[in-house]
Amino acid sequence: MKSIKINPIVSKFTRTNSNRITIKINNTGEVLLTAPKYASIYEINKLIEDKFDWISKKKEYILSKQIPKKKFINGEKFLYLGKECELKIIPANKNAIQYFDNNFLLSENCIEYAEQYFIALYKNLAWNYLANKTVELAKKYNFNVTNIKINSAKTKWGSCSSKNGIIYSWNLIMAPSEVIDYVIVHELCHTIHKNHSKDFWELVSQITPKYKEYILFLKNNGHLFNI
Ligand SMILES: [Zn+2]
Repeated sequence: MKSIKINPIVSKFTRTNSNRITIKINNTGEVLLTAPKYASIYEINKLIEDKFDWISKKKEYILSKQIPKKKFINGEKFLYLGKECELKIIPANKNAIQYFDNNFLLSENCIEYAEQYFIALYKNLAWNYLANKTVELAKKYNFNVTNIKINSAKTKWGSCSSKNGIIYSWNLIMAPSEVIDYVIVHELCHTIHKNHSKDFWELVSQITPKYKEYILFLKNNGHLFNI
């Protein structure tokens, strides 16, 4: 008898104690399927067939959002404040990496750890820019901020604590300045409204009338703000 195989669109198949079949697509586009111990392959394949369009579309969408892994070679482009800046590999220098005049300069003896050096530099650039800009906007619009920090959050551009401390993801520094200003204003407005109520958005729109445009921009381009 010919054995029945699971549909090849599935990359990873696991049996679980749960009593339902679940299909997930991870951020590298792999289709992960879990099924109860008693579910037959026939039954599983039937479900895949029913959901085939949804699975294919979602997989295609995720793959279209993938950005190629950086190679850290001469001429490669890296984003800073919405601009594409060129990487230049320079002869061994006491500074592993620097940002200068729209270029990133990486010392040739530091290429092996280029990714870590880049992230450290981006965090520094983010801290300088975002802290200054937050203080400036807080002063201009009368907000009180207690603390400003930078982290590596992948799903949030910023957050504001109950004590009005603001945290930004360093990746935000890759966005254009007007988009960054919107995120800063968004977090500053959370020092007044600890929610996303009508009053909150009203306050955001008073300061940043085009805020919806920036939200959409982040939704469509946020995946590019990484290395
Ligand atoms: Zn918010």
